[in-house]
Amino acid sequence: MVSIVVAVQTPQHAPIASLLHYESEQSLAPGTLVRVPLGRRDVLGIVWPGHHADAGSPPPGELRQVSEALSALAPLPPAWCELIRFAAGYYQRSIGELALAALPPELRKLGNVALERRLRRLASTALPAVALQDAAPQPTDDQAQAIAALLPALQAPAGADPPLPVLLHGATGSGKTEVYLRLAAQALARGRQVLMMVPEINLTPQLLQRVAERFPGHRLASQHSGMTPAQRLGAWLLVAGGQADIVLGTRLAIFAPLSRLGLVIVDEEHDASYKQQEGARYSARDLAVYRARLEKVPVLLGSATPSLESWQRALEGRYRLLKMARRVGESAADAAAVHGRQPAVRLIDTAQLAALRGAKADPPVLAPALLDAIRQRIARGEQSLLLLNRRGYAPVLHCPECGWKSECPHCSAWRVFHKADRTLRCHHCSFTETVPRACPVCGNLDIQAIGRGTEKLHEQVAAALPQARVARIDADSTRRPGELSAQLAAVHAGEVDVLVGTQMITKGHDFRRITLVAAVNPDGALFAGDFRAPERLFALLLQAAGRAGRDARDAAASEMWVQTGHPQHPLFEALVRHDFESFAKAQLQQRQRAGLPPFSHLALLRAEAREADAAQRFLQAARDAAMNLPLAEGATFYAPVPAPVARVAGFERRQVLVESVNRALLQRLLAEWTPLLPPLRAAHKGIARWAIDVDPQAI
Ligand code: ADP
Ligand code: ZN
Ligand code: ZN
Repeated sequence: MVSIVVAVQTPQHAPIASLLHYESEQSLAPGTLVRVPLGRRDVLGIVWPGHHADAGSPPPGELRQVSEALSALAPLPPAWCELIRFAAGYYQRSIGELALAALPPELRKLGNVALERRLRRLASTALPAVALQDAAPQPTDDQAQAIAALLPALQAPAGADPPLPVLLHGATGSGKTEVYLRLAAQALARGRQVLMMVPEINLTPQLLQRVAERFPGHRLASQHSGMTPAQRLGAWLLVAGGQADIVLGTRLAIFAPLSRLGLVIVDEEHDASYKQQEGARYSARDLAVYRARLEKVPVLLGSATPSLESWQRALEGRYRLLKMARRVGESAADAAAVHGRQPAVRLIDTAQLAALRGAKADPPVLAPALLDAIRQRIARGEQSLLLLNRRGYAPVLHCPECGWKSECPHCSAWRVFHKADRTLRCHHCSFTETVPRACPVCGNLDIQAIGRGTEKLHEQVAAALPQARVARIDADSTRRPGELSAQLAAVHAGEVDVLVGTQMITKGHDFRRITLVAAVNPDGALFAGDFRAPERLFALLLQAAGRAGRDARDAAASEMWVQTGHPQHPLFEALVRHDFESFAKAQLQQRQRAGLPPFSHLALLRAEAREADAAQRFLQAARDAAMNLPLAEGATFYAPVPAPVARVAGFERRQVLVESVNRALLQRLLAEWTPLLPPLRAAHKGIARWAIDVDPQAI
């Protein structure tokens, strides 16, 4: 009998550790999947490397025995275990929780015999046939330079010092994908695997297809949350069994157990969806950088609008900055123009729109000049895209008689009016009711919709352009599987003249016939409370603009219109010049003055309770405990405050912000603080949930 340490999933913040001691008849390599008894159940676990310090010493008395080793599958690679260990430490979760969450849930149901059968079946399935092969185009000068700069790192002998992470700042339409594919080809040719991450795989069926067509001799595994449990298991087994050469996925793909990793690519690295928002709140982008260093392989972060964190690192020389300023097909003469072949940006002052209101209550939704420009596009057979980052028909219903508003009874938020199914829906807790016929308070029959969402915009645009084929793409129109790809296919096939949608349609799509993009009402985000709001808005608008004029033949006539009440705002001035760099510079100066990231590091302790007081008292006690820690002077612990949405689904949400200029110190402090919290929670009644969020997206 040998004793081993096994990582198992234990309830969140449970008093028992997630690394437990067991006995096994034969010695088992670290990374081996096992089934072990835990309480009265048999659970899936992973033999954890070494007698890890984290596991402590074995308990007195007899150890329980491993029930079954899933030896049909090769042990998970040591670097995978190390990535999990790091992520657990950094994001203040248990190793077992993170490790088991990174495995497909269906794996829990398989014994060794069933697993062996599945793996044999997978090994004998032929590569899927790919219709047309994708011929690589001749690289542009920009592409050739970026590829040449990255080749030496890809060709370095294994075990060489890890190269600096590369930030590829490539304008929209500069052809970043081609750079990824060329570099991937190099890694594949050397027998190495490629991990390619995208923010939302559902939005990029095009990319999946391109990768499959470019590398017909290689097996592709995709990993994203839109897959069925069975699909997820199949894809994961391809990876864990060493058969997949390319993993293409969303944030959870960062934990793909690749054993021959040769290249990591993070496309649209600025995208907020790389940050997991529940459970272990990891940033897949940041873990990609860590994983690449650990495995001594190149990592490429690509974006037209890099995150200010990555941008600052590039400015400091900690990342290597590569630029591709020109769009594919842009000549030197084009480049000399202010914005090259990027669409010309036109700002429309909505104050003038309001003046057009006339006898009617509402000003026109689109400025007459914009409407004309769209009509011209339709006449030429070109497409237009209207961006409104708010779904539903109207964000709130209102009774002018008594002042009633469609508040959610469970949240500090309005319920949104959805006209299609005549419901009032809360976008925070999903509470849904049929729209009342009359005001529920005073019985007034004339309830009014305030503001505008994509549903209403769609209706208004269709009314203003009766000849046009108007379509809408947002989370509501694409709820059922297959709907999004069908709707996108209709746009690509030219069956749509005007596409109305939320940020969903701004990301990464290679639309070929769109020559006009308009942001209908972006001002809300201009003055939103969060410190990252301007960064997000600028990225959103520049990415949206990037959907126009992607075909060089149309580029000269392509336009980005913005309707705003603040045309003088510096954010829009930078947008007009397509000038990410000066926008970033101004933002970074503000962040530095305010001591905000990337010049400081943040963590949030969040708590939820039915009673605000309970959450407040728990957080106050937690803060007091933190301030007594020896390292506490290196950080600021702010007093508990309500979260941005203070009540959701009947729970009051409060938070404590921790800030330090020293990341390593903050890490040590959090590691000392976290273990104090479960006993504090036990001492405070009514705390439903609590969590630490390291590097939070919003505060
Ligand atoms: P980005 O991601 O930088 O916005 P894409 O990678 O989507 O840009 O490329 C934009 C378009 O240019 C795509 O249709 C792509 O097929 C095309 N393209 C990229 N590189 C080349 C090239 N070297 N020659 C011709 N077309 C190219
Ligand atoms: Zn009323
Ligand atoms: Zn609600």
